[in-house]
Amino acid sequence: MATDLGATRGDGIFESLLAVDGVPRKVGAHLDRLAKSARIMDLDIPSAESWQRAIATAVAEHPAVEELVIKLLVTRGVEGAQRPTAWVQAEPAGPTGRRQRTEGVDILLLDRGYDSNLAERAPWLLLGAKTLSYAVNMAALRYAKANGADDVIFTSTDGLVLEGPTSTVLMATERDGVKTLVTPLLENGILPGTSQGALFKAAADAGWQLGYGPLEPKHLFDADAVWLVSSIRLLAPVKSIDGKAIPVSLTMTEELTKLLAEGSRD
Ligand code: PLP
Repeated sequence: MATDLGATRGDGIFESLLAVDGVPRKVGAHLDRLAKSARIMDLDIPSAESWQRAIATAVAEHPAVEELVIKLLVTRGVEGAQRPTAWVQAEPAGPTGRRQRTEGVDILLLDRGYDSNLAERAPWLLLGAKTLSYAVNMAALRYAKANGADDVIFTSTDGLVLEGPTSTVLMATERDGVKTLVTPLLENGILPGTSQGALFKAAADAGWQLGYGPLEPKHLFDADAVWLVSSIRLLAPVKSIDGKAIPVSLTMTEELTKLLAEGSRD
């Protein structure tokens, strides 16, 4: 309804997951994160089994497409009703994710306006939850586009790399044959990415070293490759940061894209 607090206040949570050829990816990880967001937000949500049934219905009812985006949404409900509203929706993936993964992205570093310790100090800011309040994230993307870039990496006021508005940041180095994959510290007020989690597990099994920040922009400039990763776009190579070209590795992108697909099977 128009008076749903999800619509009037952005008071709710969501997940976006990808189904490829009718098979939804990482359902367990998305449901775990939805449950975590619900705990942080004090929302009573349907059981994992109900969501699984709803996801299966959405996939079965939608005409077959190669890539289907499935959204799980929960709001605090219609004003006064004291009961959450929950639903699942499905739509074919748009062109942006595919374009980003094949063509790469030029990004701007933009200030997120908080320091890297805020999540611990101010739990009411809901920094570890995937809430429906994405207006700032969308504004950052519009700002990037208006300034000639494709996407954004947010930084904290104390100069650390955080995440993209809808993605996790990854970087890789290769030294003396040892390949290392690094992502910013989860404790720095970023959303734990299900893609990053799945990829790290698969990469570790394939012999990669893993690392967690703190990362500063200089580390991105010194890396052998940088990506934005998320469930719908998958791995998008970063081609430039603030107008400065950085190295792109086709071989590492191919290898990690395969590992991400392997690690995303439930
Ligand atoms: N960080 C933010 C703020 C996001 O919105 C997203 C996904 O939309 C991600 C990271 C990546 O998460 P996932 O890999 O689970 O899609």
